[in-house]
Amino acid sequence: MANAPHGGVLKDLHIRDEPIRAALQAEAESLPFVTLTERQLCDLELILNGGFSPLEGFLTQAEYTSVVDNLRLPDGTLWSVPIYLDVDRAELDRLGVAAGSRLTLRDPRDDQPLAILTVSDLYQPDRAVEAEKVYGANDQAHPAVHYLFHSTRDTYVGGKLQAVNEPQHYDYVAIRRSPSEVRALFRKLNWTRVVAFQTRNPMHRAHRELTVRAARMRHANVLIQPVVGLTKPGDIDHFTRVRVYQAIMPKYPNGMAQLSLLPLAMRMGGPREAVWHAIIRKNFGATHFIVGRDHAGPGKNSQGSDFYGPYEAQDLVLRYRDELDIEVVPFQMLTYLPDTDEYQPINE
Ligand code: ADP
Repeated sequence: MANAPHGGVLKDLHIRDEPIRAALQAEAESLPFVTLTERQLCDLELILNGGFSPLEGFLTQAEYTSVVDNLRLPDGTLWSVPIYLDVDRAELDRLGVAAGSRLTLRDPRDDQPLAILTVSDLYQPDRAVEAEKVYGANDQAHPAVHYLFHSTRDTYVGGKLQAVNEPQHYDYVAIRRSPSEVRALFRKLNWTRVVAFQTRNPMHRAHRELTVRAARMRHANVLIQPVVGLTKPGDIDHFTRVRVYQAIMPKYPNGMAQLSLLPLAMRMGGPREAVWHAIIRKNFGATHFIVGRDHAGPGKNSQGSDFYGPYEAQDLVLRYRDELDIEVVPFQMLTYLPDTDEYQPINE
């Protein structure tokens, strides 16, 4: 039996706030403002368009603590990576921001007002605890831990958002699709079963084999959804990667696959990141999600060993399989067989 297209309740704040957009736009111009960092801009884009549903804003202290400690929002909903707005205390004091304040969030590239935040609380994180619990180690060889200690500002500001403008993009605009747009595309194509593929690397033949195999196993179509926000420092830039993805798409069986870009700021958080990626793909309307070897792995720690085991991300995602509302398609490492010129999972 075919699955109904799903994805659960999508909190697209642009659609929700469209009727009062003119008033929000006028108010945004009159409020104190914070200019977002590149990472916050990525997070904001996905909160506003529903990629981070059920979030409707940046985490409050109670939500942050619950996510860091239990991978859950206070109401019990699974959410594995803390999404917060970090700002310098001195700036907040200068702006006179306190609980109840309304604050405009501006795009760092063109100063456009993107959203209004109604501040619910301000709090100081314990960075060592966040590093240990979310990333598994307080070790700055981990890119997200390094970011936490060197780039994150000292105060986190929680609260709900109202959407003012979508961030403007000028590259690959036609394939940057919001969850509403991806869901509409699936409806238009009559795709009811879709396996989503996450990547931050140039795709090569092994990835094509992996995704075609997943599609055939699950009688599904394929959504190639590469990350074009922030990835691991040192990765190949997205301008180049998207050209690679565009070149590989014609190598799929006719009609099997679509390419759509995701403005995500990755944390390279391995297991927790895989759970987060699955939730995001569910929001985009996918029914299946591939988690292979060393998913979102940050590489080696300062002692020279891997931060996470190669299948730790798979294990964590599978532990939550009953409440994810998207089916995980796990893969062992795919390896090349020169005799038959094909790729096969190593365990086969
Ligand atoms: P990331 O997981 O950091 O986004 P990649 O682009 O390297 O980075 O991988 C994308 C997905 O493909 C992940 O689920 C990963 O586990 C999987 N993957 C990549 N290469 C292989 C391989 N040779 N065998 C099995 N899975 C793989």
